[in-house]
Amino acid sequence: MKSNPYRLGIMGGTFNPIHHGHLVAAEIIRDEFKLEEVLFVPSGKPPHKGDNDDEIAPPEHRWMMTVLAIASNDYFSASAIEIEREGDSYTRDTLMELKKIYGEKAEMYFITGADAIAEISTWHKTEDLPRLAKFIAASRPGYKLDWKKIDPRFRKSTYLIEIPALAISSTEIRKRIREGKTIKYLVPEVVEKYIYKNRLYQRG
Ligand code: NAP
Repeated sequence: MKSNPYRLGIMGGTFNPIHHGHLVAAEIIRDEFKLEEVLFVPSGKPPHKGDNDDEIAPPEHRWMMTVLAIASNDYFSASAIEIEREGDSYTRDTLMELKKIYGEKAEMYFITGADAIAEISTWHKTEDLPRLAKFIAASRPGYKLDWKKIDPRFRKSTYLIEIPALAISSTEIRKRIREGKTIKYLVPEVVEKYIYKNRLYQRG
């Protein structure tokens, strides 16, 4: 049965690559926040990363890995809106577009890493964000979010949740691939196969 208002989780990230930490985080948050759906939105061009960041796999590969990784969960879906939009992938533009698709009444929860949320006051048109969504900061074990640093406008609408599985990180996975080490069980098997078939992250 659909809830009223519709509770939508939006999982934002570069997903370079997507891993089991992201998937566990999305599933635990879906359950705890009683979300009807978690929509994964891979960044097209992450706004805070340079054009020459060649550690970032092309958007079409990150999109494919995301679609493969979420396929077995009926609550998960993916949107290419940031991949298809030209220019920097601003969260504010994404939330505005999703409001049009899901309706003004949809309750939106933007989920991403705690490190990224800690910088939210520097995001594009930050003043629009609190009325568009609530924010869920998923943290690695032992991470301490400094609430004093969080813009007061966001304090009431931001939740912090520790996800032990986020001990897995995309940075560590890319490093392991470069060093020829195994990444088995860190990413879904289909993603592992996709990475090797397309020779992603082998140089850095
Ligand atoms: P990032 O700097 O690559 O990641 C920061 C930290 O958060 C990393 O530890 C990362 O771990 C973790 N992380 C990223 N996405 C996550 C997720 N969905 N769930 C749990 N942990 C996650 O950040 P990013 O991926 O580029 O950006 C995060 C989101 O914020 C994106 O949707 C981005 O578009 C948005 N953002 C918007 C603006 C803006 O509008 N101006 C500015 C900055 C970020 P892994 O490396 O293991 O993923």
